[in-house]
Amino acid sequence: MAIESVNPATGERVASFPEMSPAEVDRLLEGAARAQRSWALATFTERREPMRRVAALLRERAPDLAKLMAVEMGKPLKDGVAEVNKCALGCDYYAETAERHLAPREEPSDATRSYVRFDPLGVILAVMPWNFPFWQVFRFIAPHLMAGNGGVLKHASNVPQCALAIEEVMRQAGFPEGLFRTLLVGAAAVPAIIRDPRIAAVTLTGSEPAGRSVAENAGRALKPTVLELGGSDPFIVLADADLDEAAKTAAVARTINAGQSCICAKRFIVEASVYEGFLARLSAALLAVRVGDPLDPRTDIGPQARRELRDELHGQVTQAIAEGARPLLGCTVPAGPGAFYPVSLLADVKPDNLAAREELFGPVAVVLRVASAEEAVVVANDSRFGLGASLWTRDPSKVASLVPRLAAGAVFVNGLVKSDPRLPFGGVKCSGYGRELGQEGIRAFVNVKSVWMK
Ligand code: NAP
Repeated sequence: MAIESVNPATGERVASFPEMSPAEVDRLLEGAARAQRSWALATFTERREPMRRVAALLRERAPDLAKLMAVEMGKPLKDGVAEVNKCALGCDYYAETAERHLAPREEPSDATRSYVRFDPLGVILAVMPWNFPFWQVFRFIAPHLMAGNGGVLKHASNVPQCALAIEEVMRQAGFPEGLFRTLLVGAAAVPAIIRDPRIAAVTLTGSEPAGRSVAENAGRALKPTVLELGGSDPFIVLADADLDEAAKTAAVARTINAGQSCICAKRFIVEASVYEGFLARLSAALLAVRVGDPLDPRTDIGPQARRELRDELHGQVTQAIAEGARPLLGCTVPAGPGAFYPVSLLADVKPDNLAAREELFGPVAVVLRVASAEEAVVVANDSRFGLGASLWTRDPSKVASLVPRLAAGAVFVNGLVKSDPRLPFGGVKCSGYGRELGQEGIRAFVNVKSVWMK
């Protein structure tokens, strides 16, 4: 089977790569295991050098790498450049902080001296999605290679050129040969790779079905996993919120990356007294978002990443309308060969509507009305997901009482939910488990080793 790169703005096939054979995968795993054994013994200073170089190379090549993302998955150039620069920031962050995050910790016991070490685990398999083709991968590479692990990447099948470009940048930065490799394989090859004794752990960012499959296979092989899955993030607007700021941020929070982000705000939960005012402002802000050619610098959002994903999204929107949602903007499929979908707005959505229960992975805002802050929390938590949440209020006592009750891995107050290398990132419930980024992220795949000395 070939792994194909198709431009979602035009429907044209850009490139095609043969899938790697099991023998080729075996060779790359052997190389990664060999390289990791030496890398595990390298000092933090030695690991830091190529990590700093990769950051510099990423900054230098950001425009070219952004172009690859634009033609493979439709990300506008300016967003692609920002994404690559964020990867560089993540590499610098862990180059700087890994030694501190993994410093041995003295713990008094009945020993003369006892302490806890954080040693590398081995080669980690990363199964990654297409929506942030560089950032998703570098937030894996930066902590885990600094921790002394090796990595093999099974990237999403629609971004093979990005996957190969990442491998190339890593090679040029001077990481040991084989320590990080891209495996050009489809999802069907993943269970055998997980079982391979040279793989120590697996991290996946992707959909729930992919998460379940990886967790099952890793469970059978008794290997640790981190899962970052879908989300249906609530964006709660209370009566005392700054409505102008909230609506402006809401439009970005819903349409960023053409709505294809796990932490996009997906359910706008608004107190009744400000419902109409917020809706009017949100509608105006969404109307200003320019959908177009990702290579045009004026474009805010490009097409959806694949045509079948666009069609699936439209099916969900159609069903939501049939269940009583009121379409205020968009909600129609444009003609043409690309995978475009208009910025859309569904109002008066009830909590049992499909649009409130399922993840809508595209630029479709879903607005729900609630009677009070209390009801807002109940509706926000009435989801099988629990990734991020955004809370809009000027009242510190509401912040203090509501934040602890929101079932989410992150709560952003009066702001847009985003990832930051310094803060742990992950979810609860069907949004997954384990954490990436921050100190928790670099400690996800280490051997926490107790040392007792007489
Ligand atoms: P996806 O279909 O699950 O693909 C993600 C990755 O998993 C791809 O590499 C894919 O390979 C692989 N995969 C798919 N099925 C698999 C299986 N049964 N076993 C092993 N690997 C499998 O997800 P997507 O549609 O590309 O991405 C969208 C989803 O990811 C959304 O739900 C979104 O919310 C979630 N996401 C979560 C986060 C987060 O941090 N929580 C971030 C971004 C996206 P192929 O491409 O070869 O099928």
